[in-house]
Amino acid sequence: MKTSDNRRHRPILVCATLLVVAVGSLVEADQPELGGAIDLSPISALFPAAPEPTAPSPSREGLRLLIQLDPKALGPLSIGSPNAGLLFNPQPMPEGDLWQIRNPRETYGTTETLGFIIKAIETVEAQFPGSPRLVVGDISRPDGGRLNWHASHQVGRDVDLGFYHRSEVEDFLRGRKSNLDLPRTWALVRALVTETDVHRIFLDRSVQRYLYSHALEVGENRLWLDVLFGRYTGGKDALIQHVRGHRDHMHVRFYNARAQEWGRIAYPLLVKAGLAPGPTVTHRVRSGETLSHLSRRYGTSTRAIRRANGLRSTMIRAGRRYVIPIRKIPPEAEPFVVPPRLLPPEPSTTAVERAAPEAAGTSVTIGRP
Ligand SMILES: [Zn+2]
Repeated sequence: MKTSDNRRHRPILVCATLLVVAVGSLVEADQPELGGAIDLSPISALFPAAPEPTAPSPSREGLRLLIQLDPKALGPLSIGSPNAGLLFNPQPMPEGDLWQIRNPRETYGTTETLGFIIKAIETVEAQFPGSPRLVVGDISRPDGGRLNWHASHQVGRDVDLGFYHRSEVEDFLRGRKSNLDLPRTWALVRALVTETDVHRIFLDRSVQRYLYSHALEVGENRLWLDVLFGRYTGGKDALIQHVRGHRDHMHVRFYNARAQEWGRIAYPLLVKAGLAPGPTVTHRVRSGETLSHLSRRYGTSTRAIRRANGLRSTMIRAGRRYVIPIRKIPPEAEPFVVPPRLLPPEPSTTAVERAAPEAAGTSVTIGRP
């Protein structure tokens, strides 16, 4: 599939679930910075700003009309950041022959995210026919917002994927050298990196080591691998990063050109229409602060604060955190643009290069295929 297919708005599969939205906080900060409230441009230092826009921005008027007539027609929207956001118009991960879903109630995402997952799995199958079914873990709850113990997984752009093992497994299984199917697992990681708009892959160091060695063995470009695995930066800002708790699965986060850009523009309109919760901040109360201090500071009413926290009286306690609904929606950030993919150098084909492989592939392409 050409990459342009990913960016086109495909209204297929738009889920028939109700318009349920998170009542969670959109912002978490002791010292609220409204401008940073909805973080839609987490561009890592590795990826310079992409020159090409990715999804055409809808007009505000067009969206307003759509919200009035048929909000479901907006398709899935990813609003806010993975750790503090919501998924609007969630779409369930479909069943398939090549994967098994761990918990269907927690595998809701955007069209783009689900498409990327399926594409990567299908790429592995095309390369290694007869692959065991991959375990697909949590994506998001149908209403977005906080999912179990996860800090992220709130906006339909995160997914936990199992590894390919030497035989099919029913659940996540710790990846060891003795049980991992390295060719397939590497093919999966490679497909995610080169064929989807992946942002991050969180993976335990031990599994990273196996994959890195395997990739070198099968002739992948060392420089590309070093950038990918953060060997120059000590892992900082790398696409593949070590995070504890990822020995039996990898956590993959995607960029969504359409769901993020449409979500950015639609969010204030959805709040106005009463279809999405307004933004909130959390505030830790210092001694001497009262409810009316807070209401003045955040431009809201004491009643709204009491309601948001289920307070029966006007008493608040120092040291405790309270949710403050804020009326003013942060000003719209810049249009969301997906950074370029981190692609390996073209394989060298000339005899000269073949004879002197160290001379070939000394630069890493950062760009789209
Ligand atoms: Zn995860």
